[in-house]
Amino acid sequence: MSKPKRRRNNNQTVDEAPLLSKTKPLQLRYYGDPVLRKRAEPVLEITEAEIKLAEDMLMTLYATGNGIGLAATQVGVLKRFLVVDIGSDDEENEFDPLLLFNPEILSAEGESVAEEGCLSIPDIRADVKRPEKIAVKAVTINKNEIQFEAVGLMSRVLQHEIDHLNGTLFIDRISGLKRQLLRDELKKIHQADRPL
Ligand code: ZN
Repeated sequence: MSKPKRRRNNNQTVDEAPLLSKTKPLQLRYYGDPVLRKRAEPVLEITEAEIKLAEDMLMTLYATGNGIGLAATQVGVLKRFLVVDIGSDDEENEFDPLLLFNPEILSAEGESVAEEGCLSIPDIRADVKRPEKIAVKAVTINKNEIQFEAVGLMSRVLQHEIDHLNGTLFIDRISGLKRQLLRDELKKIHQADRPL
């Protein structure tokens, strides 16, 4: 897997811990919230508002305790932005968090099936078939356009989060039968009044 090359600057960026301490977690949106079905709009300019969103979303991702990716749609913001941090036990191969504006899948190949869950659809997990390897184009918080390839978990998380930006949920990609079986559980999420 090729690691995206992202330039760091000496200014404070969202990768720096001190800024994060000023942020607060945002309210997550859950299955049944109509915003999760909307298509997010491209980000035309990265202003302070977008940088604040990036910081708050990264904080929100970490606050979940088990999240590895979050799309802006999931906090009710219809902008094409996502954060990913898949972590790693292996320091050599550890990724920095990815903060991507206007992410686009340029090409996809292969096929892989693995279990997914979603912060907006708590307690439900299902196998999802997706392309194994993707090439992605995006703009970083430092306004650099980058292209990179992703495989394995990174590829899967990026595809899951980009789906969110198009109003698609992972349960849309599972078989009708399996979805039928999950119907009652999905209804419960819809009706629950959830704090973060
Ligand atoms: Zn999700």
